[in-house]
Amino acid sequence: MKFGGTSVGDASCIARAAKITVDATKEYRCVAVVSAMSGVTNRLIEAANFARAGNGAQALAVLEALRKQHEDALISLVPQEKERERFRGRLDEVLAEGRRLCEGTALLLELTPRTLDAVSSLGERLSAPLVAAAVKEAGAPSEAIEATELVVTDAFHGGAEPQMELTRAKSQARLCPLLERGIVPVVTGFIGASVEGQLTTLGRGGSDFSATILGAALDADEVIIWTDVDGVLTADPRLVPEARTISEISYREAAELAYFGAKVLHPKTLNPVVLAAIPVWIRNSFEPERPGTKITPEGRSIGGGVKALTAIRDVTLITVGGPGIVGLPDVVGRTFSTTAEVRANVLLISQSSSQNDICFIVASPDAQRTVEALRKEFARDLEQHDVEHITVDPNIAIVAVVGENMRGIPGVAGKTFSALGRDGVNLIAIAQGSSESNISFVIEEKAVKQALITTHSEFGLDAP
Ligand code: ASP
Ligand code: MG
Repeated sequence: MKFGGTSVGDASCIARAAKITVDATKEYRCVAVVSAMSGVTNRLIEAANFARAGNGAQALAVLEALRKQHEDALISLVPQEKERERFRGRLDEVLAEGRRLCEGTALLLELTPRTLDAVSSLGERLSAPLVAAAVKEAGAPSEAIEATELVVTDAFHGGAEPQMELTRAKSQARLCPLLERGIVPVVTGFIGASVEGQLTTLGRGGSDFSATILGAALDADEVIIWTDVDGVLTADPRLVPEARTISEISYREAAELAYFGAKVLHPKTLNPVVLAAIPVWIRNSFEPERPGTKITPEGRSIGGGVKALTAIRDVTLITVGGPGIVGLPDVVGRTFSTTAEVRANVLLISQSSSQNDICFIVASPDAQRTVEALRKEFARDLEQHDVEHITVDPNIAIVAVVGENMRGIPGVAGKTFSALGRDGVNLIAIAQGSSESNISFVIEEKAVKQALITTHSEFGLDAP
């Protein structure tokens, strides 16, 4: 079971998460994976940036506020002072490490990816002992464990990839004996360690990924991701008030939705469980009696083939183009080896058959370094006007229509685009993967709400 940041957001949320965990241990053996308390990772990154700018005092002030926040939670969760002492010692050690990291950074005026990982990891290292304390108070023996002991990754700081065989061996060796003794391990999400033992993080929002990594490593029957929404919805309810919770969807559909910014899951979450076909649940820790969404290999097919809509806004359209690129066979290859080199997250690609333009979309935080790298890569071609321009448009959004069973159902694209035309939504680019489980289109950012409302009602997603 994984508990996200809001599910451990304060003492009462932690107590609720602990109760859910303890109830589950009456029937199953259960490992808890926890995020940092909500907002904490952002604050830690702020502290690291203060330190980098030479502002050590401000960095330490952030850490002091976090100490207070966790201390307050500890006081409400654990009534006996003697018992608190044990957990406080652990929190103090983690905070002392944070202070040393910030002081070092402020001294050197340099923040390496490795140090940033070490600072960002502190939130989980503080929340896990609190949750372990709460589980103990709720009646089950428990132990807080740092995932550096379990999850082995490559050394790519800020977005490390797990190495499953090593992770499996370490996790089983460390966790199975605890489970056999009836102890609930409470593991820090988000972090791992390289083969050399250096702390890494799996990327922002990576605790979901931690949960499925451990689920797969332990051959779990199920992974349950406890969050603050009822499950996967047909659309973002803030934009489409008629949106509903989907009871069952397939891995592929969920991955498409995660990839396209339905913020419920980290995009890599399902990778570790696909092979072993372990079901993953998304459930609401604030409404634990609600069923949630079950993600399974097959999903459950429903009428029209379309399951859900998703929109992603924080993205940028990059175009590499000009008539000259028709004769340059390697432009596509060079474009995407460049995006790969800078590890830009490419969300959508479209090229017209006239070959005048390659346009693709990256997450906005990746845009600047991608464009800089492309301008460098194509410097000579730009000079010789083989490549006319590399342009950037941040005011766009992608909307994706997702459903595994649209495959083989003709007319989904036609229906989508004529409805959008009717309602005056202008299309900038269109892409459909050959898997046919998603049709994506690029529109101006300000047209997102209309596009979602139009397609949601066109495919009857509001109907029970
Ligand atoms: N605490 C980390 C973050 O905020 C990981 C997570 O919450 O999943 O990105
Ligand atoms: Mg999260």
